[in-house]
Amino acid sequence: MTLPVSHSPIAAPPPVARGLLPLIGNTPLVELTKLDVGSSRLFLKLESANPGGSIKDRPALAMVEAAERAGQLKPGGVIVEATAGNTGLGLALVANAKGYKLTLVIPDKMSREKISHLRAMGVEVVLTRSDVGKGHPDYYQDKARQIAEATPGAIFINQFENPANPLAHQIGTGPEILAQLEGKVDAIVLGVGSGGTLTGLSRFFAEHSPQTKFVLADPAGSILKDVVEKRTPGPVGSWLVEGIGEDFVPAIADLSRVTHAYTITDAESFAAARALLKAEGLLAGSSTGTALAAALKFAHAQTEPQRIVVLSPDSGNKYLSKMFNDDWMRDQGFIENARRGDLRDLIG
Ligand code: PMP
Repeated sequence: MTLPVSHSPIAAPPPVARGLLPLIGNTPLVELTKLDVGSSRLFLKLESANPGGSIKDRPALAMVEAAERAGQLKPGGVIVEATAGNTGLGLALVANAKGYKLTLVIPDKMSREKISHLRAMGVEVVLTRSDVGKGHPDYYQDKARQIAEATPGAIFINQFENPANPLAHQIGTGPEILAQLEGKVDAIVLGVGSGGTLTGLSRFFAEHSPQTKFVLADPAGSILKDVVEKRTPGPVGSWLVEGIGEDFVPAIADLSRVTHAYTITDAESFAAARALLKAEGLLAGSSTGTALAAALKFAHAQTEPQRIVVLSPDSGNKYLSKMFNDDWMRDQGFIENARRGDLRDLIG
């Protein structure tokens, strides 16, 4: 009997994993076939395939293992971090697998779903004020540092200053991309949060493919594009895209290899993520939308065909009640007609 599917098993399926940690990394690269990129080719690195659901599983594992090797983290020790985002979920996965306690300091504006998810994994969640800035004792990063200092056997993992964060991408994400594209990568498009991905990929490609261009996709309101182009930050605004854009330059962020930078509005990011879902069936997060919007602008500005890699840091399932919800999109003024959200919103 012939099965009515076109799927055929690969010659060597991956071996059975013992626990989730060996499943971190080695994520798929998918070529987009429906979006118009002229004569160029667009490839998405699907970091949502990591077991914790995002690109941050990689640095979470690398930072914990670096602390173990340095003797800072002993069995039963406590990891402290300030984040409600994907880093928290990645650290929860790693702490759970390795038997560490995890305390996350989370600004109180973050979604209840994330807090419930983390608490259900046994994470101690300390909620703190969202309306105070750096230097205030209730500012989430300062509070995490204080908690780590006051807790015996605890370390503040601090992704913004931790060299193991970019290292995870230098030794993992970078080599994977170059091997998947058989050594031919013209450009990599990505957003910057901690800068771990950009810095790690920059270091790897500087050594192994120095002609590869780096394209920064920066949310409107973030200072990073101005820092790249004018060497000085402009005014800080606010944006709805999650996980990228900054109001400061993180200590580990090396922007020196960025060759092109685009400011992308929330409307453009959401339109791109929605177009990706509609055209290709791929449900990706809002920062993927930002990177994809920048990649389309970059591709259309080139005279020669380019092989372009777009980082897709997480899945769109975290954003179903926001950018994939027509009512929310209409309430926010992003779409006039609830059924729109196609490429005309983006490059029209
Ligand atoms: N996208 C999402 C959804 C993220 O959570 C993050 C991490 N903040 C990034 C992109 C950016 O990654 P990085 O911290 O390596 O700059």
